[in-house]
Amino acid sequence: PYSLGPAVRDYDARRAAWLAAHPGFPAFVAPERPRVLVVTGSSPRRCSDPEGDHVLLRAFKNKADYCRVHGFDVFYSNAVLDAEMSGFWTKLPLLRALMVAHPETELLWWVDSDVVFTDMLFEPPWGKYARHNLLIHGWDEAVYGARNWLGTNAGSFVIRNCQWSLDLLDAWAKMGPRGPVRDKYGRIFAEALSNRAPYEADDQSALVYLLATQRERWADKVFLESSYLLHGYWKAIVDRYEEMRSKWRPGLGDDRWPLVTHFVGCKPCGKQGASYEATQCRQGMERALNFADDQILKLYGFQHESLNTTAVRRVRNDTGRPMDADDEEIGRLLHPTFRAT
Ligand code: UDP
Ligand code: MN
Repeated sequence: PYSLGPAVRDYDARRAAWLAAHPGFPAFVAPERPRVLVVTGSSPRRCSDPEGDHVLLRAFKNKADYCRVHGFDVFYSNAVLDAEMSGFWTKLPLLRALMVAHPETELLWWVDSDVVFTDMLFEPPWGKYARHNLLIHGWDEAVYGARNWLGTNAGSFVIRNCQWSLDLLDAWAKMGPRGPVRDKYGRIFAEALSNRAPYEADDQSALVYLLATQRERWADKVFLESSYLLHGYWKAIVDRYEEMRSKWRPGLGDDRWPLVTHFVGCKPCGKQGASYEATQCRQGMERALNFADDQILKLYGFQHESLNTTAVRRVRNDTGRPMDADDEEIGRLLHPTFRAT
């Protein structure tokens, strides 16, 4: 059967030894503050939609902003590392390769290209997950009970650098090789999961299938989080940004000020799928990107004229005494004290 690579054994002990031998590369940069690598990517080919690559650039700029503010590293892949793992399956061999090459990285945070960070201040409360190896948005009841393939979302998840995760990636990837295997699992998922038609296997259904059918093997190390939006469905968010700004402040991460707005079903790079109209997707993305960018621009005294335009204007008078300004919210983003809430 397919495998991501040679079986790795004793990984945790070997990693611990490596860390002990390399004190200059600690896996925790402060107490309760793991070293985090944000991983994202897109297809090696240029987009078929003429605007697609510009959208991808802006979506990556958004991730670079979020990572800078929080002191995370970021990796962008535009290679398919394993031809068997094409399309959205590409994230699995990529995560494995990065994991074993970076023993100093404690957590890898996969985000789809169509994920936009919309709360620049919020950071997952890492301490809460000290005993877990996979953090993903979702609900226990929907995954283990209803076996609903929409009970979680594989567009944004955090995975610990450890043996358990290497094993999970390997078990997960076995359902992904393109062609007959992927087709076969698509039919199996249609049988085993609720609301899923028998099209070829996708990585999200595969994860739900794995968790639901091998609960004893995996579940105690998986945290299905729903107290904030590690993944947030764009349709329920993009029309509310003005309202959020009038009522709330960044740092909440939940429905009031979503950590992530994920453009599921939109195809910013290529041919639009059947689910949504392209203009609806594009306008939503424009608004999400500007909403996020405003949180950054504000630090430097600028704002977009509206969420629907790229034009910006100065909103704070320039001053000859720049260091005198003392705004707490701005200070927390410009000079974050690394908090683990
Ligand atoms: N992707 C990639 N390389 C590829 C194709 C896809 O890295 O060759 C990534 C990309 O980040 C994309 C993700 O896989 O966002 C999943 O696809 P998509 O977001 O279109 O799926 P959806 O969230 O709409 O279900
Ligand atoms: Mn996506």
